[in-house]
Amino acid sequence: MVIDVEVERKEIINRYRRLLRKAKPILNEGDAKLIKRAFTISMEAHKDMRRKSGEPYIFHPLSVAEICVEEIGLGTTSIIAALLHDVVEDTDIQLKELEQIFGRKIAKIIDGLTKIKGVFEYGSSAQAENFRKMLFTLSEDVRVILIKLADRLHNMRTLDSMPRNKQLRVASETIYLYAPLAHRLGLNVIKTELEDLYLRFTDFPVYRDISFKIDESRASRNRFIKQFVQPIKDELDKLKVEYEIKSRPKSIFSIYNKMRKQNIPFEEVYDLFAIRVIVNTPIEHEKSYCWQVYSIVTDYYTPNPDRLRDWISTPKGNGYESLHTTVMAKNGQWVEVQIRTRRMDDIAEKGYAAHWKYKDNSSSHESNLEKWLVKVRELLEKQDLSALEFVDDFRGNLFNEEVFVFTPKGELKTLPTGSTALDFAFDIHTDIGAKCIGAKVNQKLVPINHMLKNGDQIEILTSSKQKPNEDWLRFVISPKAKSKIKELLKESKRNAADQGKEILLRKTKQLKIDVNSRVYEQMRDFFKVKSQFELQYRIGVGLITVNDLKKFKEFKPSSPLKNRAHTEVTDVKAIEQEINKQKGRYEDILLIGEDMDVVEYKLAKCCTPIPGDEVFGFVTVNEGIKIHRTTCPNATELLANHGNRVIKAKWTSQHEVSFLTALKVIGTDRVGLINDVSKVISEELKVNMSALSFKTDQGIFSGEIMLYVNDTRHLEMLIKKLETVEGVVKVSRFDSRNNNA
Ligand code: MN
Repeated sequence: MVIDVEVERKEIINRYRRLLRKAKPILNEGDAKLIKRAFTISMEAHKDMRRKSGEPYIFHPLSVAEICVEEIGLGTTSIIAALLHDVVEDTDIQLKELEQIFGRKIAKIIDGLTKIKGVFEYGSSAQAENFRKMLFTLSEDVRVILIKLADRLHNMRTLDSMPRNKQLRVASETIYLYAPLAHRLGLNVIKTELEDLYLRFTDFPVYRDISFKIDESRASRNRFIKQFVQPIKDELDKLKVEYEIKSRPKSIFSIYNKMRKQNIPFEEVYDLFAIRVIVNTPIEHEKSYCWQVYSIVTDYYTPNPDRLRDWISTPKGNGYESLHTTVMAKNGQWVEVQIRTRRMDDIAEKGYAAHWKYKDNSSSHESNLEKWLVKVRELLEKQDLSALEFVDDFRGNLFNEEVFVFTPKGELKTLPTGSTALDFAFDIHTDIGAKCIGAKVNQKLVPINHMLKNGDQIEILTSSKQKPNEDWLRFVISPKAKSKIKELLKESKRNAADQGKEILLRKTKQLKIDVNSRVYEQMRDFFKVKSQFELQYRIGVGLITVNDLKKFKEFKPSSPLKNRAHTEVTDVKAIEQEINKQKGRYEDILLIGEDMDVVEYKLAKCCTPIPGDEVFGFVTVNEGIKIHRTTCPNATELLANHGNRVIKAKWTSQHEVSFLTALKVIGTDRVGLINDVSKVISEELKVNMSALSFKTDQGIFSGEIMLYVNDTRHLEMLIKKLETVEGVVKVSRFDSRNNNA
């Protein structure tokens, strides 16, 4: 880019003159000279610097000063401080030099602004600390904070030229700290613009969509408003008081919030705009005039008594004064009408700074500002509060329906209050949610159902082995996470059923069960499942094992189902016991053949093999497969002479180690938990544990278990079983350093 120095110099002078023009009404004698001095120093100091956009750096302090004058209503002191606000931080000029030229007061403000600069690193809570410092300087000079807001506003307006990650960081910080701060200070216009800019840089399609729809509906809205206000105007004219009627659509951000919270489309947001009636009256008549206007409005339109707000008798904490009513227009539409005086309107838009203009006439607002400052001071003096807690406290219940949290990279996420780590995981991405095994919140390990607090920074821990389960529905509150989990559960159930279907077909064939619809019906009866799908699903996840199918074969009624139906019901318990018995014998399964399948066999009487023995199968002429120990007296003869009839056989018992694996168990700590977990592993499932280590931290325990399992299905069953232990949140497989299997 070729820079035309002359053109640039002219533009700088133009902008400087524009600032002076805007400041002119408030300048005292000698002020212009001081401002010029500050401008010259700043321009000289920043002369070799450029903003990311390529513009000369001086544009920034000039704009910040202009915002201070025009949008906050500040004076000379602030203009000078704004012009110099980046000088000490970014250039060689010392604060002392500035103090000599402009005096102690301005130097202190610049010092305050310099100190609160810094990088937003939420994890280190540096920004929270900065924020605390910034508020601390409030007690010395509230202008520090107002100039800081002007600085932030300009940075947000020029965020386009920043890289994407910085945009997100700055935008997040803005919605988290600066917009609430502007709100607290009653800087409504600035707050609104900050919020809209936040949305623009974090969700541009939504921002664009809403602003487009606002534009699109403008003409019809204006027609409606014109009709609506006409009778009010006629009456106000008779009142012989200076007045103005304004109507402005709601901010994009607040429309967006409404749509999101009520889950409605743009077209259904009924209060897209409010009508504002502003009367200009002497301060002593303010209240009575406002109520007169109220009387006129409600003569024409029926008010909703639930929506009358009198912030004139009791102003809001941030100094906001106004009378609000919502009335029914002739077309059946609710319309909010705000009634206030010129002074109230100024304060509503520009906050306390605007109020300084009126301070000679009233003391109550000054004292409100004082009250607010006292409150901030009290907060600051709580020594035991960490900076983060302080920020949280400061923000108070402004946003009590939402919790603001951060990604590891500092990106802000807004979730409904009560959201958990799992909600957060699903908010980031469905895949992250589906694989979530826990989280680190502010570096601490927490289970997936850990509830999030404002300011938490969350790193989601995932595992490719993780699968959502029914319990997860109790762990989330956001609609997004709920519907995603339901979807995933359905999907995994379908997959399991597909697998189960295959297994069922294969095994019934091997077991020589002749399947037809009647047999399926018997099977559903036997296993007490409602549908074929459910049967397949249970087989797929291993709740019905091959042994159970074998058992079914034995139980399979030879008589027609009808005759059996009655005894079936009375015999439920017995069958259940039988099934359980079979399940308990899981470890006794003998796998035979190259494919290691479960087929019928008989144990040879010559050597009576038991589970755990090294064995082989021998295909006999009349009695099917017989199992012999390799140490059987007959073994040598059989193996040597009838090698073609010998088949591989293997117990899947604990001694026939299939593989060594490592499990990670995460849960909430309780007395006896470790005991219960190891009991499940060693006794109930008869699994051989090779190592077990547990640690607990802040009520969260995590354990690592090395154990031997037969196969992955065995492992999955074990995981399921462990997950039923009270307090266990997640069991997952992980690769251990020692895992050489
Ligand atoms: Mn700046």
